Amino acid sequence: MGSEKNRDIRLKRRPLGLPTPDDFEQVEGDVPAPGPGQILVRNLFMSVDPYMRGRMMDRESYVPPFQLGEVLQGGAVGKVVATNGNNQFQAGDAVLSMNGWREWYLSDGAGLQKIDTTHLPIQAYLGTLGMPGLTAYAGLLRIGALKEKERVFVSAASGAVGSVVCQIAKNKGCRVVGSAGSAEKCAYLLNELKIDDVINYRETSDLAAAVADAMPSGIDVYFDNVGGSHLEAALGNMRQFGRIVACGMIEQYNATEPPPGPNNFINIVGRSLTMRGFIVIDQMDMMESFVRDMGAWIAEGKMIWREEIRNGIENAPSALIGLFKGENLGKMLVKLSDDTPA
Ligand code: NDP
Repeated sequence: MGSEKNRDIRLKRRPLGLPTPDDFEQVEGDVPAPGPGQILVRNLFMSVDPYMRGRMMDRESYVPPFQLGEVLQGGAVGKVVATNGNNQFQAGDAVLSMNGWREWYLSDGAGLQKIDTTHLPIQAYLGTLGMPGLTAYAGLLRIGALKEKERVFVSAASGAVGSVVCQIAKNKGCRVVGSAGSAEKCAYLLNELKIDDVINYRETSDLAAAVADAMPSGIDVYFDNVGGSHLEAALGNMRQFGRIVACGMIEQYNATEPPPGPNNFINIVGRSLTMRGFIVIDQMDMMESFVRDMGAWIAEGKMIWREEIRNGIENAPSALIGLFKGENLGKMLVKLSDDTPA
């Protein structure tokens, strides 16, 4: 691999509140050579995702915490560059792994998934056709038990998960209202994703009133990516027997104190609501129907997406931090290399 170096990003200290670039460190080494049975992969794109903030805390969760001084992990797509007697993979194969936050890696193939990039850009497997897409699909259709023509409210609606939720709900004939944090995001939701109404929550002093205005006959399914004030606004506008899909609560991921609970939680009783959380890794049995339905929607032009691409591994920490500042319209990605492995 010539004079090429392998750079990776490690957690230097556990962030307090919103992470800062000083919480990370970049380490440079040589590009390793594959030993017997191994392959060498060059990552082309890595994903940054809100759940990574939780892994920076030293606490028990559904995934183990990141360890200080160790290379971070996360979704990545790359190309096999060399193999040493590994007959599962060939040079040129495109692979999806959890070996993000590094430019190159060695593997015996365990945990790697070959992906077909004939019709789609490789990074689609980190977004609409990957973990965020499946989260939207399983969350809305299984956890939210969405029915045709229902009224759906989505928070962080222009993000990786939210934008897929909006389009699936539209494809099911629903009336969809999305909330997002900028005029540009709201215009995208209305004009390109063709949802029915939008709320720019940063420009709204009374979110519950704005939701009531946009959804006068109430919400059947609230897809919650944000929690906090959005959850409260939704609870006050739910219809009888409505469902709340607890997908994420990004408003509190950087909280340094326990945030207050929703002050109107009692609506869950009187309106006979169901609120159900889920983690996408428990929904893998839906992969087959997900791939089939997404393939059809993409082919019919009923599923589109945007990406916010940052260039270079040195910009990965700021890309992650940017998620909490709303810097992304669509999926936030970091490009690590062009598709021309040496
Ligand atoms: P996004 O692409 O939606 O990026 C995050 C977005 O969240 C930002 O662009 C911003 O958009 C919004 N946001 C950030 N901080 C706040 C805040 N304080 N209040 C309101 N909005 C905020 O990320 P993903 O699509 O990857 O993830 C969306 C949600 O889904 C997250 O909560 C995530 O944790 C969750 N998730 C859950 C999974 C599961 O298995 N349950 C799997 C994957 C994701 P804006 O400018 O509109 O505010």
